[in-house]
This record gives sequence, C-alpha cells and structure tokens, in this order.
Amino acid sequence: MRIIDEVKDAKTIAIGGHIRPDGDCVGSVMGLYLYLKKELPGAEIDVYLDKPEDIFDCISRIEEIKSEFNTEKTYDVFVALDTGDDRLGGAEDIYRKAHKKINIDHHISNPGCGDLSIVEPERSSTAELLYDLMDPSMVDEEIAVAIYIGIVHDTGVLRYSNTSPRTLQIVAELIKFGFDFSKIIQETFFEKTYRQTQIMGRAILESVRFMGDKCIVSVVSRRMMEFYRVTSADLDGIVNQLLAVKGVECAIFMYETGTLEYKVSMRSNGRVNVSAVAVKFGGGGHVRAAGCTMNGTCHDNINNLSVEIAEQLKDA
Ligand code: AMP
Ligand code: MN
Ligand code: MN
Repeated sequence: MRIIDEVKDAKTIAIGGHIRPDGDCVGSVMGLYLYLKKELPGAEIDVYLDKPEDIFDCISRIEEIKSEFNTEKTYDVFVALDTGDDRLGGAEDIYRKAHKKINIDHHISNPGCGDLSIVEPERSSTAELLYDLMDPSMVDEEIAVAIYIGIVHDTGVLRYSNTSPRTLQIVAELIKFGFDFSKIIQETFFEKTYRQTQIMGRAILESVRFMGDKCIVSVVSRRMMEFYRVTSADLDGIVNQLLAVKGVECAIFMYETGTLEYKVSMRSNGRVNVSAVAVKFGGGGHVRAAGCTMNGTCHDNINNLSVEIAEQLKDA
C-alpha cells in the first residue's frame, strides 16, 4: 500500500502528531510533509504540531509548522501520525472535521482512529512504517533526514529491541544520501544542556528502589523544575537512565504538571508490560515504554502503579 493512493485527490491536506512531540513524531510529520509537497505540488498542505524543540532545526522547512490551532478550515484529508486522536492536542478539532481521516501509528494501545488506520505495533517507529508507505524513488535527502531522526529517536539509536532487520535496511537506504548522521545523533539525541544534565543528576540521586529492588522511581516537582529552569522537554532520557540500573525490571519517572497532577513515564526490560499498566490509568504506549497522566499525590500514584506492576511480576 502507498500513502499517495489515499491522498492524491485531496486539494487540502493537514498533517499532525501528538502533544509534546518527540523525535519520531517530529520526524514522521516532517517526513510526510516534505514527501507530499513533492508528490502533490498543487495541493495545499499544512502541518499542525506543538512547537518542536530547537534540536530539530536540522529538519528542512520545520519553521513551516503551524503551532496555532485556531482554524475554521475543513481539510479534505488529515493524517494523524504517531498517536491516536486522544493526544492530538489543539489539532483534535481539525482532525475530527476532516472529510477523510488517516491514522498511521505504531502504539500497541491505539485501536486506530481513522477512516483508514494503519497501526503496526511491531514497527520500531512511525517513521519506519511511513517510509514503507512511500515510493522510495521519491525520497530525497531532506525526507531521509526526517525519517532517519524518527527511527533513531524511537530505537534509542538502533539499540532497543524494537529494532528489526527491516529497520536497519531502511536506515542503510537513508544514510546512502550522505548526510552527517553522526552529527545528527549527537546533536539531537545525546547532547544535553547543562541544566538538563543537572536535573537528570538530581532525579537519579533522589531515585528510590522498591519491590525487592525490581522497580525504581523518581519524582520531579514543579519547584525543582523552576529551580533548574527546565521544562518537560528537558526531562527526556531520565527514565531510560533509571532503567539502566542493574536488576531493575521497571522504571517509573514522573513530573508534576499541575496541582496533584503528574505525567508518568514507564520503561521495562520486557517482563512488565508497561503499556498495559499505562492503559489502566488512561494512557498507553508500548510494552517496554509507555506513559499516562495521573491525578493525586505522587505517593498515591506510585502505590496505584505498584499494584499493577506487582501483579504482572507475580505472573512472570
Ligand atoms: P514517554 O514516557 O512520554 O516517553 O512515552 C513512552 C511511550 O508511550 C511513547 O511511545 C509515547 O508516545 C507513549 N505515551 C506516553 N504517554 C502516553 C499517553 N498518555 N497515552 C498514550 N501513549 C502514551
Ligand atoms: Mn512519539
Ligand atoms: Mn513513535
């Protein structure tokens, strides 16, 4: 199946992704944008997404993203990438109004929310899935960079178990364009600002193990975020670092988003299905990486999550 067959008659197309967009989301959205611009030069194409982090400025035409969602426009097609319709944020209304909704995603918790839904949980990333819906002869260096960033970010630079032979074949095709992939990895994935490094250190220092040291948790309060002058985007990577502790099966990281409200991130080595845990609390994700938003004190939230995790570890 080719994505172009599904959109070729559209005069107006919108593309969107999830709130707090990560590398896969930004890479997929921009990859599809650049691709459709090339395939359908006569069509009007808009991208709706929360403003991506500056690290993604290496993606061509990223400044064309619209982060104001107040539009009366009804699009012929809306393609929602890397999420269901529950996390489209400000773009949700635009999505609902569109004449044809297409949903392309790889989250196991997403039942599909489009007139056409292509949800493949075995895919490393939405970017990987998207690439296989493109005509490879139409892919150029700029599209390749966007797709590459998507794949690299969701696979932890081709390390996580979601990396498949197909992932690596696609990456091989992409890096043939000759862009400086090593620089892209360093500047978008590994490099951290001083403040990001400081709060990561603090979060790790204050982490606590429980459940016979099989789980680890760390909580960042709003006061801490204000002290280090960081935003939610600066906290990426902390939960993965917690999972790197020897013996830990499941890592939980949460930060305060409002009064008695926390954004929770979970990571697992595979024994615990954290997507199933997140779904119980209204979130979702993948078996080894998932998230949700929880109300209550952080201690209540940890207790509630622990019950679900303990249940799974018991069966394992
Ligand atoms: P995070 O911990 O935010 O990096 O998210 C881990 C994975 O779970 C990513 O693939 C997210 O897209 C997904 N995820 C995070 N939060 C949610 C949520 N509230 N609902 C559905 N999926 C989520
Ligand atoms: Mn994502
Ligand atoms: Mn993804």
